Amino acid sequence: MSQKRAFALAALLGLVAAALAWWLISMGRESGEPHLTSYEPQYIDGPAMLNLAETLSSDALEGRAAATAGNEAARGFILKRFETLHLRQFRDTYQHPFAILPGEDDPDAPPRTGVNIVGWVAGKTPGEGPAIIVTAHYDHLGIKDGEIYNGADDNASGTAALIAVAEYFTHHAPEHDVIFAAVDAEEIGHLGSKDFVRAGIVDMDRVALNINFDMVSRSAAGELYVAGTSHYPQLLPLVEQLSGEAPVTLLTGHDTEELGYNDWTYASDHASFHRAGIPFLYFGVEDHEGYHDPSDDYANITHEFYLRAGDTLVMAAIAADAWVASVAN
Ligand SMILES: [Zn+2]
Repeated sequence: MSQKRAFALAALLGLVAAALAWWLISMGRESGEPHLTSYEPQYIDGPAMLNLAETLSSDALEGRAAATAGNEAARGFILKRFETLHLRQFRDTYQHPFAILPGEDDPDAPPRTGVNIVGWVAGKTPGEGPAIIVTAHYDHLGIKDGEIYNGADDNASGTAALIAVAEYFTHHAPEHDVIFAAVDAEEIGHLGSKDFVRAGIVDMDRVALNINFDMVSRSAAGELYVAGTSHYPQLLPLVEQLSGEAPVTLLTGHDTEELGYNDWTYASDHASFHRAGIPFLYFGVEDHEGYHDPSDDYANITHEFYLRAGDTLVMAAIAADAWVASVAN
């Protein structure tokens, strides 16, 4: 082989190698490291919300049943976020314990303690005037028959979304005080929200609206429901405007008695506020195969939908803040 031909062959091989490398890299981009989602959130810190939902629904937290070590560990992660965001406190603490009496769920169980985690962001007149309370339960079903019920959608998703909304308001002060309550013991009878309503931590006469998040991360159809307007039609203009702007398909319904089991009026913590005559908007997805099933794992949520829902929930809270002003004046 002449030196000239050897040089030409080497150059050709170099080109082939470079083309192969480029091809492998571009293949890697497409298949090796898939983009989790192409949606760019406008209001929330998407990675932070996803990360917290994943942490809360990890096996290490053993399903977060009220009064268990896993539930306490979950509380630690939530408290850390409340502290980092410098949310304000009631009674100099974020933690508000309440008794879970025998008979409230399991008649044979000993008396136990649940803990609500409550903080707030000040509006223009801190501690005075109408306030909004955002709720999401952080407990789930724990371990049953040796299987961990991680509750990623129910309700690690709503808890992490609540913190995403709180974070938004720490950077964009609301008009009215916004209270954030990650409530405990929902799965055994909405005990945390019931205690919150009766405990007097917040004067309930101030609470103009409850916004409750429970299961906001799993919908192949990209649909999020908002329930409450059949009871509180004064909220319809807010919801109609939100539906037009939201990055999810926002549907009303699931809040009339004739639906029976599919009437969600008393299905989650908003019921505690509704019973006290406080208007509510409940955000959640349609029941799915992972509902109260060990397969409710982080891997099975609809990640892009969840980011879209997170933005929608901030938009809902902003709209609610404006709505409170319109009904208060
Ligand atoms: Zn739930």
